[in-house]
Amino acid sequence: MPRFRDEYDVIVVGAGPGGSNTARFAALNGARTLLLEKRQDIGSPVRCGEGLSKVHLAEAGITVDKRWFTNEVEGAHIISPGGYRLTIGRKYAGSEVGMVIERDIFDKTLALDAAKAGSEIMVKATVTDVTRENGSVTGVRVEHFADKFNLKAGCVVAADGFESQVGRWAGLNTMLKGGDIMSCLQYRLTGVEVDPLYCEFYLGNEVAPGGYVWVFPKAGDTANIGIGVMAKKVKAKADAKTYLDRFIERDPRIKDGKPLDWVAGGVSASPPLEKTVGPGIMLVGDAARQIDPITGGGIANACRAGKIAGEVLGEAAQTGDFSLDQLMKYETGWRAKMENTLYRNWMAKERLARLDDETLDKLVDSLADAGVERLSVLAILEAVKAKHPELVKDFADFI
Ligand SMILES: Cc1cc2nc3c(=O)[nH]c(=O)nc-3n(C[C@H](O)[C@H](O)[C@H](O)COP(=O)(O)OP(=O)(O)OC[C@H]3O[C@@H](n4cnc5c(N)ncnc54)[C@H](O)[C@@H]3O)c2cc1C
Repeated sequence: MPRFRDEYDVIVVGAGPGGSNTARFAALNGARTLLLEKRQDIGSPVRCGEGLSKVHLAEAGITVDKRWFTNEVEGAHIISPGGYRLTIGRKYAGSEVGMVIERDIFDKTLALDAAKAGSEIMVKATVTDVTRENGSVTGVRVEHFADKFNLKAGCVVAADGFESQVGRWAGLNTMLKGGDIMSCLQYRLTGVEVDPLYCEFYLGNEVAPGGYVWVFPKAGDTANIGIGVMAKKVKAKADAKTYLDRFIERDPRIKDGKPLDWVAGGVSASPPLEKTVGPGIMLVGDAARQIDPITGGGIANACRAGKIAGEVLGEAAQTGDFSLDQLMKYETGWRAKMENTLYRNWMAKERLARLDDETLDKLVDSLADAGVERLSVLAILEAVKAKHPELVKDFADFI
């Protein structure tokens, strides 16, 4: 076991994709880096549909690896409540479709890459608070088995996911509104007979109020099947399970599938945070609400943001400059690449969530009819406008 120091240039809290990629690029760029993870097994349990596109991987510095790449799909089917079906090719299926991965192995591989780059890693290490001096975050309080201790850092990176507390402890506003929280749950089912070449998304208030059910084919006869519902549209968190179980029961291809696991979790569907950087602190990935508000896909964005954060922190360590001005390069960098899309998709989600099932049918029907291949908000609105202009009057400002 390594002997840990008392002080690092960079301490990253959370070894999800965002945290590990931050740690990797910080270490590669010369920062003495420590990655802290509260779980005992990085990547487990899996809380994810395991859908990922190759589109942004290169930008995030990640190469496809057969250890976690389980199935390549041709594209996605989107199915409306009344059974209208829109098929989207892989090239245009947004940033969540293309590959179905083994998420636990993916997360472990990224942590492994961080270690290879020189980052230290401590598992079963829960950060319970941040330390501060003169208004700046100076480190973290850690519980590691029975030990409790403080560690110092030039910058603390909160990559602690949807339930992030580190950002709040550091004084950043990470609050979510009820309408911006999705309750999700997912099974990995084996013994199912789904199309191995297509991911499927089922829409409708009967199926998943304010969200969707996904069916993502994995290798062999296994699939990742899950649901996201808008928390404020259901009575209790447990309702997501009722909706998903009913969906599975009604589909003869999957109803006899055997669960390998099931896990529940939350996803934010919010606009980007106003601030993701403060003195001595940065927020990355779900902690920074960088997840796509329409699809709930956040792996790629967490990795992209992590690379930018790591590079900025490497430069800070090289120059010994952890000032707010230096850290703000991360804020400017990730916003330039992601903010417009995240904001636009959040506005679209707000309006889509108000549509009734009949309107969703018309929407999917018009898209299929117009041969829309590209899952961009703009392409969708233009196609719908041609057939049902009344449906897009609320969205005129997008076109
Ligand atoms: C059910 C579900 C399905 C999803 N499906 C998809 C999908 O198909 N495709 C996709 O792209 N995205 C999907 N997402 C979203 C995706 O999982 C996240 O966007 C992604 O994991 C974000 O990565 P992250 O590194 O920011 O956070 P996380 O992956 O959540 O990692 C945060 C890490 O921080 C650790 N941690 C938290 N608090 C502390 C602490 N105090 N001290 C130490 N460690 C701490 C946690 O244990 C965790 O390991 C899904 C999410 C859910 C819930």
